[in-house]
Amino acid sequence: MSDLRDLYQQVILDHYRAPRNFGGLKPNSCCAEGYNPLCGDQVKVCVRADGDRIDGIRFDGVGCAISTASASLMTEAVRGLERSEAEALLASFLALMTGDGDNGVPLGKLEVLSGVKDYPVRIKCATLPWHALRAALEGGDTETVTTE
Ligand code: ZN
Repeated sequence: MSDLRDLYQQVILDHYRAPRNFGGLKPNSCCAEGYNPLCGDQVKVCVRADGDRIDGIRFDGVGCAISTASASLMTEAVRGLERSEAEALLASFLALMTGDGDNGVPLGKLEVLSGVKDYPVRIKCATLPWHALRAALEGGDTETVTTE
């Protein structure tokens, strides 16, 4: 188990140091911002939709290792999905973080963040980009969500 934890931590650090899909997205369909006052994480998620498919997703902002890695992993996991698939993945990830069990949607690489649920203070860091994604998918134009 500790080997697995080490591996998970390496993946998280890798995504923190070299975040994927980082920066603005233009053109985009909608963006939403998230703020976690507890830690100071700020993230802006922009989505470009092609019909029901998420054709592009990028993020921007400043945050700790957990929030940045979570946003980076999220963009990789969500890009190319149908909107409904992205919503299912989102629900599954939030369920993992809050310990509500799983809803049957495989999380794949996102499992590396599963250790975060043992650190309640960090859960909001990990879920912040996902809340911003949800706000973006719901079509808010630069809506700001907060974890508080
Ligand atoms: Zn944080």
